[in-house]
Amino acid sequence: MARIIQAVRGMNDVLPDQEHIWEFFEQTIREWMVAYGYRNIRMPIVEHTDLFVRSIGAVTDIVEKEMYTFLDHLNGDSLTLRPEGTASCVRAVLEHNLLYTGPQRLYYSGPMFRHERPQKGRYRQFHQVGVEALGYAGPDIDVELIIMCAGLWKKLGISNLRLEISTLGNVESRTLHRSRLIGYLEKHLGKLDKDTRRRLYSNPLRVLDSKNPEMQKIISDAPGLLENLDEGSLRHFEKLQHMLLDQEISFEINPRLVRGLDYYNRTVFEWVTDKLGAQGTVCAGGRYDGLVEKIGGKPTPACGFAMGVERLLALMVECGKEIPNPVPDVYVIHQGEATDGFTWKTVGHLRDQGINAILHCGGGGFKVQMRKADSSGARFAVIIGDDEAQAGVISVKPLREKEKQVKVGLEEAVGLLKGI
Ligand code: ATP
Ligand code: MG
Repeated sequence: MARIIQAVRGMNDVLPDQEHIWEFFEQTIREWMVAYGYRNIRMPIVEHTDLFVRSIGAVTDIVEKEMYTFLDHLNGDSLTLRPEGTASCVRAVLEHNLLYTGPQRLYYSGPMFRHERPQKGRYRQFHQVGVEALGYAGPDIDVELIIMCAGLWKKLGISNLRLEISTLGNVESRTLHRSRLIGYLEKHLGKLDKDTRRRLYSNPLRVLDSKNPEMQKIISDAPGLLENLDEGSLRHFEKLQHMLLDQEISFEINPRLVRGLDYYNRTVFEWVTDKLGAQGTVCAGGRYDGLVEKIGGKPTPACGFAMGVERLLALMVECGKEIPNPVPDVYVIHQGEATDGFTWKTVGHLRDQGINAILHCGGGGFKVQMRKADSSGARFAVIIGDDEAQAGVISVKPLREKEKQVKVGLEEAVGLLKGI
């Protein structure tokens, strides 16, 4: 026998038994986005490598070690499977000049790719829903995005998510903070891990985002960014907090909150759970007022977030959200060849009337077919024997209730099956 080829490590199949949970999630997202006036945008999964290097930043985990980058041998282009959606989204907005008509509220969803060590809640192909509001200076839009998230958690049946917020200030305050941080870290040089030492001068802020447990003490004693905040960012942050309090959204200020990507400024936030072990951040976002300009557009304030779909689905299950697996309405059992005109006509008509019908295929006697009907989960069996076919009627047998089987005409059957 030929060797079975397996899926790429860290890239998962979603099997039919699980698919309805995804379906529920995606449907909920669509309705939720429409309710807030966000429009869907779909970008390619592959982009020019430069787009990510320029927007995410060269000295970041993603660009340094997580990107699936490859040479297109046909033309020599360096391409990358998208590790996140914001850069692609902004690129598309600029390429099609969408900001010409004013600010844009957009969302997208789909697979992202990062070459990380696969573990629970961390995969190499994973899915995100991303929401981007371009052309809004906030903090009202920052609050809208956070309130939207809170509303979504309710719809998904997720409770006990913690909201952590902070601000990264503007470029000047970050430069000041950066030099204080370098000074502090230089004093602890001996205790720094390899990554940190390498990034000490190129990207010291990223040290605060380190996952290394041995670095946590040094990180928690490091000078905070909030002490060096510029006036404008401070006011922005205060207004944001007032609005959140006013809306009864509880939050914690976490001064160590830095995002793993370069392009954030001012507001940053994360929704975190303790229920998923180490992979506890289900949603992360913030402002990125400099990004549009960095990718070649006019200066445009912007704010957005991305959520990890796999982590949210795991959390829904953890919170006991029940999503019933959809069952077909009808399983159609028939004698002889299905090709006999009456059977085809019957299933066709049922489906036209909005009734989901599985037609038995593959032959077999009445008993075998009946067993299949039972295990299909269908509410009714429709039985078409020779007698029925000749008389132009069908037998309807409830499979989940103790009601009697009846022989009726097609129109009457439709009413019965629809429960009218
Ligand atoms: P982490 O700190 O867990 O590595 P991150 O800061 O790299 O996350 P973001 O780039 O902010 O993550 O992505 C937003 C969200 O996407 C994360 O909060 C998480 O829920 C999800 N996510 C990120 N990387 C993965 C992955 N490899 N597998 C599954 N979900 C992921
Ligand atoms: Mg990461």
